[in-house]
Amino acid sequence: MADVYFKSAHTPYIKDALHISIKKLMEKLENVVDKGDIVAIKLHMGELGNIGYIRPIFVRKVVDFVKEKGGKPFITDTTTLYGGHRGNAIDYLYTASINGFNLSSMGCPIIIADGLLGKDEEIVKVNGYEIGVAKAIMEADCLVVLSHFKGHGMAGFGGAIKNVGMGCCSKSGKIWQHEVTKPLHDESKCILCKNCLIFCPWNAIEENNGIKINYEKCKGCGACTVLCEQGCFYLNDVKEFQRRVAIATKAVLNNFKGKALFLNFLLDITPRCDCCSFPDKPIIDDIGILASNDIVSIDKASYDLICSKAGRDIFYEIHKIDGKIQIEEAEKLGIGESRYELKEL
Ligand code: SF4
Ligand code: SF4
Repeated sequence: MADVYFKSAHTPYIKDALHISIKKLMEKLENVVDKGDIVAIKLHMGELGNIGYIRPIFVRKVVDFVKEKGGKPFITDTTTLYGGHRGNAIDYLYTASINGFNLSSMGCPIIIADGLLGKDEEIVKVNGYEIGVAKAIMEADCLVVLSHFKGHGMAGFGGAIKNVGMGCCSKSGKIWQHEVTKPLHDESKCILCKNCLIFCPWNAIEENNGIKINYEKCKGCGACTVLCEQGCFYLNDVKEFQRRVAIATKAVLNNFKGKALFLNFLLDITPRCDCCSFPDKPIIDDIGILASNDIVSIDKASYDLICSKAGRDIFYEIHKIDGKIQIEEAEKLGIGESRYELKEL
């Protein structure tokens, strides 16, 4: 049973301030940073317009902690499959800077791990698959994963497993996970506004006696399921997608045995993910910050805390997707265990 440390969002006194608690949480964990280690601090720095992502002050505290341990930190993420403002390293670095992440605010470099266009990768063989993982992450000695726990249109919710499985992969690794989630189109709802012809980043939506998806071109990125205001695009089955996210997580973490730690932020818990420029208002009050050396335990504990506070699975209620599948699949793959002991600071 893994330990999961928890700091409540309730801060009645200055000693309880959340930014101060980052160091206290990290000190509780098994140390993974040795002197001289190159440490990848993986987080989602937010789509342009998103305001739910992890606040820069928390990330800076992690950077400072890694430096105190003698590590050489860099902040990192990868380019996206959908359009938006993070599809290549140049756009991403501009967006990151607007969102508060740059060399001067963070005190360390920001490196987009899969390169300028998302093609810098190492191919990792796992469970009979070959998965493209971002090269700069594979070259690091240590991985510190900071995850904003929130709803997700394809995975039900996104926490550490989603952040590592999808977020540490190159474009080819992302395509491998997404190719099983190609959407369907409900003609009965369509008002033929043709906006989808513009917002599909892979030019996979065509007008031919109505709106049609060209499945040869579609990458399953999911942009249309979020952007069509009539809700015409929908997903059939996302179990295989979640299984693949878990396999990709294993591909990444096999490289960091005993050298990874995880922090989950249960703050600003929005219905949609940080890739979304309109994440909507939080669906539940802030809960706190969790820390663990076990990726499965920390996601399970995060999910349990939110369900317990809400009295129901609010992510299933919104997305009609059972997000627990990714946790179950990750546990089956031996990445971690879902039984945990919650230890409050
Ligand atoms: S954006 Fe939606 S409503 Fe508009 S044409 Fe495309 S599918 Fe139809
Ligand atoms: S059709 Fe939808 S899921 Fe497929 S590539 Fe275009 S936006 Fe992405």
